[in-house]
Amino acid sequence: MKYESTRGSLGYKNAPQAIIRGIAEDKGLYVPQQIPHLTDSLEELGKLSYQEIAYKVIGAFFDDFTDEELKSCIDGAYDEKFEAEEIVPIVEAGGAHFLELYHGKTAAFKDMALSILPYLMTTSLKKEGVTDKICILTATSGDTGKAALEGFAGVEGTEIVVFYPYGAVSQVQERQMTSQEGENTHVFAIKGNFDNAQTGVKKIFSDDDFAAKLAERGIRLSSANSINIGRLVPQVAYYVYGYVKLLARGVVKAGEKVNIVVPTGNFGNILAAYLAAEMGIPVNKFICASNENKVLTDFINTGVYDIRREFFVTNSPSMDILISSNLERLLYLLSGRDGEAVKGWMNQLDAEKIYEVSDKVKEGMKCFAGGFCSEEETEKAVGDMYRQHGYLMDTHTAVAYKVYQDYAAATGDETPTLIASTASPYKFAESVSRAIGLAEAEDGFAAVRALNEKTGVYVQKGLKDLDQKPVLHTGVCEVGGQAQAVLDALK
Ligand SMILES: *Cc1c(COP(=O)(O)O)cnc(C)c1O
Repeated sequence: MKYESTRGSLGYKNAPQAIIRGIAEDKGLYVPQQIPHLTDSLEELGKLSYQEIAYKVIGAFFDDFTDEELKSCIDGAYDEKFEAEEIVPIVEAGGAHFLELYHGKTAAFKDMALSILPYLMTTSLKKEGVTDKICILTATSGDTGKAALEGFAGVEGTEIVVFYPYGAVSQVQERQMTSQEGENTHVFAIKGNFDNAQTGVKKIFSDDDFAAKLAERGIRLSSANSINIGRLVPQVAYYVYGYVKLLARGVVKAGEKVNIVVPTGNFGNILAAYLAAEMGIPVNKFICASNENKVLTDFINTGVYDIRREFFVTNSPSMDILISSNLERLLYLLSGRDGEAVKGWMNQLDAEKIYEVSDKVKEGMKCFAGGFCSEEETEKAVGDMYRQHGYLMDTHTAVAYKVYQDYAAATGDETPTLIASTASPYKFAESVSRAIGLAEAEDGFAAVRALNEKTGVYVQKGLKDLDQKPVLHTGVCEVGGQAQAVLDALK
């Protein structure tokens, strides 16, 4: 299987090369030349473990890896680090099925991909005979940073540099990152929002002089954001897993479709659901849920992507994003792999902050529904679900659930529904505590304890006693200062 850029320049890569590079030379994103189909029946897959399904799905995309290589990546990634035996529990509550993706080390769904990416990366380096050191650059809205740090900490031949928006992540998220151990880890707060951080990182990737400077020192850049195909593909596995387990449980019959609801920021997670459907799981609607930063809701409804709007910092901060990078991959697929058109839209977005897609793409978008909800509605959804069904959701998952409820009420659609549950409620303990009516805690850490006392819901190891962990990273940088920060970090 070869990989091509969404911006149409030729020069195909194999999977290891695409994983090492992260982003294509023309700033496009790598996409496989075809979406592979599942070769086993969904009934057969329903009998398999998470690891076995991951092996089938990832192996179909990354066929350059040998069976042993892939098995060792998967076994290394999906082991006891996950504090749930089945890796991804599926819990029914309030008329939907929650695909709990947050039982990994950092308590967010980012662990699903970032616990395997370092293995895929080091295997790729070996296969390609690359001896340079790889520096992973990551912009984070809060959760990717910690998951990437955990994944790459201590991994030989790598350095990792993370930028998070100053004052715009939860206290738990911030301490998770700033307390990260490991000689090869570097963390900076950027005085800007996530889009500033991500744009800065993308700029560094396309700066040839900067690359030359690093090359002199035997260093190459790569990405742990969902722009890296090595991160996106492992995410496809859990949607396949979710569907076949619903089938095995008799929730759906053979061939019956499901809806998939995803709380969306950078469009990576929902794109993985789309790819899972292309592989062969039956899906009715992909429901894209946003918070007040509802660029995607508007885009799905109109075909116009317009970032000329106010940016809100919300109680679902990992979705506080206006430029959703992975949408580019969907546009590429829906336009019939028209790299020139995609390049045009992306250039327009850079220059004019707005673009409108073709009728062909609009037609293709019809399997998507978009919705958004406010911060108040988010907290109400958390509170109502807890009081009525005893199920505790984090704020991001609550956005998805509320948008799903609105969708179901508006359409009368009764299709069985999977909701991607993207974080532990403890990661956003202050908002979640308030939502279920607890008194305001002293800080985010006290809120974790109070929430646990009240609900008895399991707290993952990594979130316990976080306030006892010393702060090891205090770097702050200005918008535009990221390249210098990287150089300083790599000294
Ligand atoms: C990253 C994140 C999201 C958004 O996922 P995308 O793949 O960026 O769309 C949603 N919820 C949580 C908790 C996250 O960490």
